[in-house]
Amino acid sequence: MKPHEHVAAFGTAEGELRVGGMPLSRLAERVGSTPFFAYDRGLLDARIDRLRSALPASVQLSYAMKANPMPAVVQHLAHRVDRIDVASALEMHAALDTVMAAGRVSFAGPGKSPAEIRQAVAAGIIVEVESATELARVVAAGDDLGLTPNVAVRVNPDFAVKGSGMRMGGGPQQFGIDAEQVPGVLREFAAAGVNWLGFHVFAGSQNLNAEIIAEAQRRTVDLVASLAEHLPAPVRYLNLGGGFGIPYVGKDQPLDLGLVAAGLGELVDGALADRLPEAVPVIELGRYIVGECGVYVTRVLDRKVSRGKTYLVVDGGMHHQLAASGNFGQVIRRNYPLVVGNHVEKPGAETATVVGCLCTPLDLLGDDVELPAAEIGDLVVIFQAGAYGLTASPTAFLGHPAPVEVLV
Ligand SMILES: *Cc1c(COP(=O)(O)O)cnc(C)c1O
Repeated sequence: MKPHEHVAAFGTAEGELRVGGMPLSRLAERVGSTPFFAYDRGLLDARIDRLRSALPASVQLSYAMKANPMPAVVQHLAHRVDRIDVASALEMHAALDTVMAAGRVSFAGPGKSPAEIRQAVAAGIIVEVESATELARVVAAGDDLGLTPNVAVRVNPDFAVKGSGMRMGGGPQQFGIDAEQVPGVLREFAAAGVNWLGFHVFAGSQNLNAEIIAEAQRRTVDLVASLAEHLPAPVRYLNLGGGFGIPYVGKDQPLDLGLVAAGLGELVDGALADRLPEAVPVIELGRYIVGECGVYVTRVLDRKVSRGKTYLVVDGGMHHQLAASGNFGQVIRRNYPLVVGNHVEKPGAETATVVGCLCTPLDLLGDDVELPAAEIGDLVVIFQAGAYGLTASPTAFLGHPAPVEVLV
């Protein structure tokens, strides 16, 4: 996708990018300082509506809040999704502060501490256990508290998903219990006093290929159906993972949601209805819900020409938006879409390199980008900043102040 397509998604007003219904420079005045992150609630709603209208009605939507744990975003989404997935006790507190019922909050991730597990059991949320050790800790917490823990087993599948930006299933993994070990573990814990809900399989993240996602979902249902007889109760919860990607760089094409939804429809009416009739299918998404709804807004502090190359030095950088600098697990650095947000209708007039304010060449936000001639004070906007932005960045590096985040 090209920058102008991202501009069109947000809209324009008075020759500027419009965010949350406001021209960007007015929003910057309202926020009071740059840099800042802004998340557009209209776009969030549109995204949820699109998912709801595409996916089969019986499929529940879970928000994986590690993608964007800003409390206002989580509060907003809690009214619009069916479930929230958390990955720490702090995230659990934020989820439980919303309208979401505890029984619809799930807790995944390796290395949950015994204290976190105890809190989760006390709260009544679903613990997605990643190992036999975690399962033993859940059982112990339940016995100790006199409560019946809600448990789903996270399975490391016996297949791998190609095309994921980050693979989190298949082969050796720190995530989940290997599929072939699941029957033995369940046998060992068959008499434990837990509420066995079902299974969770999350094979990978940031996948833009609908065929591959659909294939992974088919194989997940097959796998879970084969494991179901080992669970001491019928499978009532089937977390199929998600991994829906968003286009970050120019060559990326958006995911064909219709194709994913069609595959899911066939699964729901076919294999699921036949083999796992009591299972509620859940799709768990982070970046696909929030990623495209957020922008990171910085201000040009300096403009300089070095041996023929034009640099725009902005007041933000990789300490707030690590992913845009290419240092968040990317193998090849490519530019995230960016524009001069207070001049979005001006044509490109020069090639400039946008760098952040940190003393490292890694702090590169846009290399040789075609932009209108930007001046000191202009606002450089980086798109696709709604997920894995601020909380996935090394904010303490160099000691600059934290940016403001607003939901508008
Ligand atoms: C990180 C994570 C997600 C969210 O991944 P996205 O790519 O943001 O959709 C979902 N489920 C689990 C278990 C995760 O660890």
